[in-house]
Amino acid sequence: MYAEIIVDIASEQVDRVFTYRVPQGMELAPGTRVQVPFGPRMKEGFVIRLKERADFDESRIKNVAARLEAYPALLPPLMALAEEIRQKAHCPLCEALRLMIPAEMRGGRIKVKTEPYARLLIPPDRIDEAIQAQKRSKKRQLLITLLSDGQAHPLEELRGMIRDVREPLNYLVEKEMAEVFDKEALRSPYYGRVDAPPDPALTDEQREALSELIPALQRPEKPFLLHGVTGSGKTEVYIRLVREALKMGKGAIILVPEIVLTPQMITWFHSRFGNAMAVLHSRLSAGERFDEWRRIRLGDARIVIGARSAVFAPVENLGAIIVDEEHEQTYLSDRFPQYDAREIAASRGKREGAVVLLSSATPSVYSYAMARRGDYMLIEMPHRVLNRPLPRVHVVDMREELRLGNHGMFSNLLQQKLDDCIARGQQAMLFINRRGYASSVNCRKCGETIKCSRCDVSLTYHSFDHTLRCHYCGGIQPMPKTCPACGSPYIRPMGIGTQKVEEELNKRFPGAGVIRMDMDTTAGKNAHFELVDRFRAGQAQILLGTQMIAKGLDFPQVTLVGAVMADMTLNFPDYRAAERTFQLLVQVAGRAGRGEKPGEVVIQTYQPDHYAIAGAAAQDYRAFFTREFDRRKADLYPPFTMMARFLCEARELSVALSVAESIKNQVLKEFGDTALFRRIFFIRADEAPINRIQDRARAHVLMKLLNHPDTDVLLARFQELAGGEYPARVQLEINPASLA
Ligand code: ADP
Ligand code: ZN
Ligand code: ZN
Repeated sequence: MYAEIIVDIASEQVDRVFTYRVPQGMELAPGTRVQVPFGPRMKEGFVIRLKERADFDESRIKNVAARLEAYPALLPPLMALAEEIRQKAHCPLCEALRLMIPAEMRGGRIKVKTEPYARLLIPPDRIDEAIQAQKRSKKRQLLITLLSDGQAHPLEELRGMIRDVREPLNYLVEKEMAEVFDKEALRSPYYGRVDAPPDPALTDEQREALSELIPALQRPEKPFLLHGVTGSGKTEVYIRLVREALKMGKGAIILVPEIVLTPQMITWFHSRFGNAMAVLHSRLSAGERFDEWRRIRLGDARIVIGARSAVFAPVENLGAIIVDEEHEQTYLSDRFPQYDAREIAASRGKREGAVVLLSSATPSVYSYAMARRGDYMLIEMPHRVLNRPLPRVHVVDMREELRLGNHGMFSNLLQQKLDDCIARGQQAMLFINRRGYASSVNCRKCGETIKCSRCDVSLTYHSFDHTLRCHYCGGIQPMPKTCPACGSPYIRPMGIGTQKVEEELNKRFPGAGVIRMDMDTTAGKNAHFELVDRFRAGQAQILLGTQMIAKGLDFPQVTLVGAVMADMTLNFPDYRAAERTFQLLVQVAGRAGRGEKPGEVVIQTYQPDHYAIAGAAAQDYRAFFTREFDRRKADLYPPFTMMARFLCEARELSVALSVAESIKNQVLKEFGDTALFRRIFFIRADEAPINRIQDRARAHVLMKLLNHPDTDVLLARFQELAGGEYPARVQLEINPASLA
């Protein structure tokens, strides 16, 4: 027997199968990881195929040295998926295969942990007799009794019950009445435990959604898009769908944007499914992650909840893949090879016959467009459970506040509502929309955001030389002293920190208790869970936070939500700025009034008439979608085109820029005179919107490409170009999550 093997070296040069001989007695299957001699060294590899004969000189073929695991690490459909990723991302197959296994599995970096166990070897009908025979030793009698259930027991457990258990145990082992052996110990991560609540009676909308989803478990067709408003009970739909899948002997994967943001999803699923559920995410220790992965691979856990990469979880006989909050950009991987977990979900669903359910209160423009075109099946849940009303939303025009002499960060209305809420003993959430982006410049009097005259994107303030720059066309201008629209001097870069707001709140509401959730306060492994638990337990009345409190959380006591700076994301230099702002605001607003008491929302903004803000205030997804869709079409943005860029990083900005420039010139030289150039709608080399990250200067070649089969030819060539030798690190990104 021979095996065709992909050696685990990420290089174009060895991106092909190598043939090895399978030694007598070694059992291999496609997907098994092996060790093989490669050049002077031993390397790990993946068995792709087995074959009867080698097609070249026998004597030159080497033997497979060892099998790394007793089971194939890769399931056949996942190998097919890797091949698909290779073609799409233009990467070596081995890099696509690596996505399918936990990183710590490679290079023998993690050991399987074992523990000694003891088991009785006496046949059940002879046990009483054996106990009788050991009259002289109480310990031996007790030990036989403890082991008489026929199960293997960890020595650790026996030690707790019998002192010096080794002595009687050794005796039994010597007499061949018992055996001691090593068994794999699985490290289990923390979930937070709750008692299983009784199943709620389904709402009509939940029932209708399930009446479409459950039959599809038998015969899935297109992916589903579930558009359900916040609080419509989407989680219960997932739970019932997964339960049906389990009944049919099938497994399920539930993807969440970022596991730490959705502790409740884990708690809910865990309370219903117990240890049939596994969790995969980056906050687990390497050992825990590896063990969870093995529980899935070996079939102990049939349900997986995880972040993006859990879409590759080795679930056999997959029944459903659910993508919660499908609009989140975290589903796009930012590492090479790039992939979109939603696309992978669709592809796995198709290949493995699983239901694919994308779900959101604010679907991505892309997915909703797919549903409108009939490529996805749309399911709608337009009402909250138990006829709970959607919260009442007030939009406060912060320009007006300034005119009234209020220079603070809270409008009069928000202060008043906060006073009331605190006085009534209820809870409030304050959301500060803030990211580590360069800031835009805003007039606090008229609300004008200073924009590029040619590109319709906000200019970015650069503090080191006090200029405003456009990151699409490269335009530079000095920071003006007064607002170009109204002449007011109240013009400055936007941005306030959560810390500052926290101080202000503590001053205004002593005794109310403020919990702050941001990057700084949630660094520890379980910090998220703890802060969320403290707020739920009522230990504070105000929860203040960034994006991380915007979604997924369900606090029935929250009756007031304030979006302190609704405009922040609106001014990002990204064509998705409006979409992101709308999504965030609807999600934040959705945190209010989820319990029995109705909720209110205050949105503070300088642009109350912007369709993203107005749409969010009205919680009118369709109105927003229509505007945004038309704008994308008019300006030729995705989904009508594809955004691609070469990202060039170097120590010096001038180096990064010159590399970008030379790549651009190369593209122009190769394609400028060809028909393919018509697929490149826009191309420009420039510094990136964030031109320095972690002391690496960043420049890019930004391109808008037309969606067309030919474009693939371009992309393949671009990938080669990106792989060339440069004085900068170069990476090709296709529709990346961020163009920053
Ligand atoms: P969504 O994810 O759609 O925003 P959730 O799944 O978080 O909504 O559900 C909102 C709230 O409604 C939760 O507290 C949940 O326990 C509750 N809920 C869900 N379904 C039902 C039901 N059929 N009857 C009563 N309460 C429900
Ligand atoms: Zn102005
Ligand atoms: Zn411009």
